[in-house]
Amino acid sequence: MATNFAKKLIATPGRKIKLDKRDPEDTLGWEKNHKMKSSLVKMIEKLDSLQYLLYAEHKRALLIVLQGLDAAGKDGTIRHVMSGVNPQGCRVTAFKKPTTEELAHDFLWRIHKAVPPIGNIGIFNRSHYEDVLVVRVHNLAPKDVWSRRYDQINRFERTLEENNVKILKFFLHISKDEQKQRFQQRIDDTDRQWKISEADFAERKFWDDYTKAYEAALSNCSTTYAPWYIIPSNKKWFRNLAVSHIIVETLESLHMKFPAPTVDVSKIKLT
Ligand code: AMP
Ligand code: MG
Repeated sequence: MATNFAKKLIATPGRKIKLDKRDPEDTLGWEKNHKMKSSLVKMIEKLDSLQYLLYAEHKRALLIVLQGLDAAGKDGTIRHVMSGVNPQGCRVTAFKKPTTEELAHDFLWRIHKAVPPIGNIGIFNRSHYEDVLVVRVHNLAPKDVWSRRYDQINRFERTLEENNVKILKFFLHISKDEQKQRFQQRIDDTDRQWKISEADFAERKFWDDYTKAYEAALSNCSTTYAPWYIIPSNKKWFRNLAVSHIIVETLESLHMKFPAPTVDVSKIKLT
């Protein structure tokens, strides 16, 4: 099935995003069947060879930003989508509550240090967007501070893009009901209870505020050079399929090439 995932799921730059217009159950006509599974396997295989090419070409880096509310599936996406990727060329950074040292710097300081080097893939589990999300929702900084960050983020991402860092940002969109079910699963399943934190449950009360904060971030910071994709994520299999397709589509659009050999291969005689 030919689906242009990127085109269908992008947050169009310059447009106001209303999340209630995006159905978290959507699957773009795909079903959970054999065809879907083989497409996902194909994407994961392609990703492996594209990563190899990215590393060999040594011209650019890929930065993947994952955002979403608690239980939206950030960890699961990393585990599934990156399962075929060589760990040697890939690094995941999870951004937690900033340390005292991090707070003593501008909000992009810790982010910039984690940007992947040329030839590598970097994945952010949460990111600089927390500084216009949780910070906005909980008034961790005054409005005149966080409201300026949208432009600061755009300028930062533009700088990265101009320095050969390709940026893809995924918002994993789940419904409030789906989050409740996933929390319930964590309570019921002894192997998942470790994931429960009281803060997660408390954050549910701020659902509407987070929705507004996400809408502002997606509307202000989806750009041609660093687009946001809104991934319907109630169905985990669709989330994995869509994210892996968009990564592959993007890497393929770069038309990367293996560098020419540095030696005259025809002259080499193995003894
Ligand atoms: P988790 O991803 O579940 O391990 O949780 C990490 C926590 O760190 C979340 O509650 C985030 O909201 C919080 N966090 C991440 N970045 C920031 C930030 N810049 N300011 C405040 N809290 C943050
Ligand atoms: Mg959490």
